[in-house]
Amino acid sequence: MDIPVEYDLTLTDEQRELRDAAHRFAAEVMRPAGIELDRLPPDKVIERNSRLFEVARQAHELGFTRLSGPPEMGGLGASPLTLHLVSEELAWGSLGLASVILLCAFPPDAALASGKPELAEEFSKPYYGARGDLKIGAWAITEPDHGSDTLCPGQPEMRVLGPGNLIARRDGDYWILNGQKSAWVSNGPIADQAVLFAHADPKGTLDHGVVFVLPFDLPGISRGRPLDKHGVRSLPQGEIFFEEVRVPKRYLVADADVYPLYLNATLTAFNAAVSCAAAGLARAAYETALAYTKERVQGGRPIFEHQSVRARLFRMFSLVQASRAFSRAVYVHNLTKLVQTGAGALEHSIAAKVFCTNSAVEVATLAVQLHGGNGMTKEYPVEMFLRDAMAFTVADGENAFLSQLGATFL
Ligand SMILES: Cc1cc2nc3c(=O)[nH]c(=O)nc-3n(C[C@H](O)[C@H](O)[C@H](O)COP(=O)(O)OP(=O)(O)OC[C@H]3O[C@@H](n4cnc5c(N)ncnc54)[C@H](O)[C@@H]3O)c2cc1C
Repeated sequence: MDIPVEYDLTLTDEQRELRDAAHRFAAEVMRPAGIELDRLPPDKVIERNSRLFEVARQAHELGFTRLSGPPEMGGLGASPLTLHLVSEELAWGSLGLASVILLCAFPPDAALASGKPELAEEFSKPYYGARGDLKIGAWAITEPDHGSDTLCPGQPEMRVLGPGNLIARRDGDYWILNGQKSAWVSNGPIADQAVLFAHADPKGTLDHGVVFVLPFDLPGISRGRPLDKHGVRSLPQGEIFFEEVRVPKRYLVADADVYPLYLNATLTAFNAAVSCAAAGLARAAYETALAYTKERVQGGRPIFEHQSVRARLFRMFSLVQASRAFSRAVYVHNLTKLVQTGAGALEHSIAAKVFCTNSAVEVATLAVQLHGGNGMTKEYPVEMFLRDAMAFTVADGENAFLSQLGATFL
């Protein structure tokens, strides 16, 4: 088994077993499926008989989509540390498929966190308790005209006057949604339900928002075609359109008063999660390169024995271990704080996200270079790792923008 030295000597047997089970699933199922899906056109990836749905179903049966749920509802009641251990392994297998799987819990988690029993009954209980069909989840916040703009709570960018591309208007016991979300909504083309951020005042500023947990089969919701992109191709992304969609008011989980705080908490959790996924991907690229350098012979010996090759491998190893340790510390701290107090330290999540995704790009670049000409071919997974790593420098906020945002909290 490829799991590296575990720094935390206090892990329980249960945590080790779950992590090892996630690694086996990542190696035997997710890695080959991720490579297969990477080569398909996006329309084929979202076909109901594609490997994506098979992998998601299996992950659900094994519990990887139900980690955070409370045991009394059928979830695994996993701690933030366990969540991080498992997420790193899944991302090691396939960054795109790990994203598909891990995003699913967001709507049921948000429904439960809302404290509204009727939402827990409708979204959380059936999700955590189910062993069969998985409800695919999404987080829809960015818009065609508002990408970075939508991700900076408390900053001047959000205080500019709209209009947003998705407007929510109150109408008695309903909210009426009109407009659209960006083509970048992860799982957008296949989501059954989502946490949806919308603008409550067409003449107001962008931080005047509302958040819903809602099913995506409401009349008036439709999807664009899945995006054809260069990285994380096994993660379907696409636009969501809303035309006079009547949303019962019980689906509201945050109103305009708490919107900036809700956004801050969401970004704190998501940036920490992205850092973890990037650490898993970097590890995959490093391990693949290490194995290759022990096989590839040049100058009469495996290239691993050349000093400059080893120096590059050591740089990769250092970045991978630093990413894993930093990401884990931030993730455990911030997820624990979010559960306990509703707020974490966003700048730490941003620092981890930027460090880990930039490191993943560097490690994957070195992995490609260590493969020489072979690194350019589809015969080896390293070129996919590099494309995937690049995509995550933009996910949940582009890195230069995020660094500017993080600096405002110092
Ligand atoms: C793999 C992936 C997954 C994603 N998943 C989701 C998802 O699940 N849900 C969702 O809603 N969205 C998702 N996104 C969208 C993502 O959050 C946005 O792409 C990202 O925030 C950047 O927004 P944009 O693409 O509109 O770029 P823009 O905001 O137009 O940015 C373009 C450039 O301008 C710079 N810039 C913009 N504003 C500023 C500023 N104020 N100061 C300095 N520089 C600035 C940026 O740094 C960037 O370099 C995903 C994107 C990717 C790539």
